[in-house]
Amino acid sequence: GPERLKPEKHGIDRRNVSRHAIKVCEVLNQAGYDAYIVGGAVRDLIVGLEPKDFDVATNATPNQIRPLFRRARIIGKRFQLVHVVFGPEIIETSTFRAPASEDQETDEHGRILRDNQFGTNAEDAARRDFTLNALYYNPLTEEVVDYHHGVADLKKKVVRMIGDPETRYREDPVRMLRAVRFASKLNATIDPASLAPIKPMAHLIENVPASRLFDELIKLLTCGHAMDCLQQLRALGLHRHLLPFIDTLLNDADDRKFLELALERTDVRVRAGKTISPGFLFAALLWRMVDKRWKQGIFDGEPPMQALVTAADVVVDDQSGRLAIQKRFQGDMREIWFMQPRFERATPKAIWRMIEHPRFRAAVDFLQLRAASHEIDSVQAQWWMDLANADPEDRAALIDQYQ
Ligand code: ATP
Ligand code: MG
Repeated sequence: GPERLKPEKHGIDRRNVSRHAIKVCEVLNQAGYDAYIVGGAVRDLIVGLEPKDFDVATNATPNQIRPLFRRARIIGKRFQLVHVVFGPEIIETSTFRAPASEDQETDEHGRILRDNQFGTNAEDAARRDFTLNALYYNPLTEEVVDYHHGVADLKKKVVRMIGDPETRYREDPVRMLRAVRFASKLNATIDPASLAPIKPMAHLIENVPASRLFDELIKLLTCGHAMDCLQQLRALGLHRHLLPFIDTLLNDADDRKFLELALERTDVRVRAGKTISPGFLFAALLWRMVDKRWKQGIFDGEPPMQALVTAADVVVDDQSGRLAIQKRFQGDMREIWFMQPRFERATPKAIWRMIEHPRFRAAVDFLQLRAASHEIDSVQAQWWMDLANADPEDRAALIDQYQ
């Protein structure tokens, strides 16, 4: 049976647990079901990080869960789960699932296509990815139920796959990216047996739908340790199927500087609990390639603005096979890029119009990255930053000084 750890063994302070997640467990318990907080929240609470969100796992089925709550809806087609809504907080409540079985539908590489059997708590634990992600916290008894020695691994800072690593990566190659992300985020190492198959199996990432890869990429870049993640991805050969251009960027000093600053800025924001705009992030990742093409276009005699639009189209198109950047983020990216030339020669009238632009702030932030990698003059970049930070009534005086 599993280990059951008391608070002094796992160290979770109940005051850091979402009261809504506790409520969901209480209600399910009163109705006669087992219910636990599970996954990332338990992991993060044990190491003292603030969980992003709280998920609950239970032996109640979606149809048994939903009527117990005033605001709850069943979501998902293949594997249904319940969103229990408390104002802005949603507690994702799912029924214990059975792990991959022989008769499960897979693609020719062994990737699981459907995964929809209810199961026991022990089965649910076995289908999770890493031992430190398979922990169940009962907020009523304050015990952590641990089937795979996840608490010990967490304390040792080891990311260890449950079951046979090769099989589990084959079932879902995204787990290789997740291993890197959790190692970076937790400042942990990947257990040798879980690490060894990654390099030889990295190419399996190619079979993962682009939209899923994009979601995982956003998680990698916004885990608070983005540069570390990229370097680990590269060391394991995982970047080739995700961000092939990272090789070129990291090999050029100015490109690298630009990337480092962009990711550092992202990390600082993440760690301060601020939101990250994926548009800004991808604008930064692709910019140095856009910039090179832009300059080439100008050199070839294209008018500057037109050359920039062409460069943006070419670079985004080039990436679209692997990087399924959602249309709404592409819009933000282009706006940030296309505002860049306007910083270099603006009339007072144009400046007032730029201030009104919804992406002005992001574009000025972006300008700072360009200044830091010596693309543009840092005094000029600072002037725009001062303008963005100025109170509205002080702007006129600043704009008068612009030259
Ligand atoms: P995060 O802090 O990014 O939310 P998380 O561990 O909560 O980290 P989620 O993607 O939210 O990650 O998944 C919740 C839980 O579901 C995980 O902790 C893990 O137990 C399980 N899980 C998620 N993705 C997989 C996967 N690809 N294979 C197996 N189990 C998974
Ligand atoms: Mg989560």
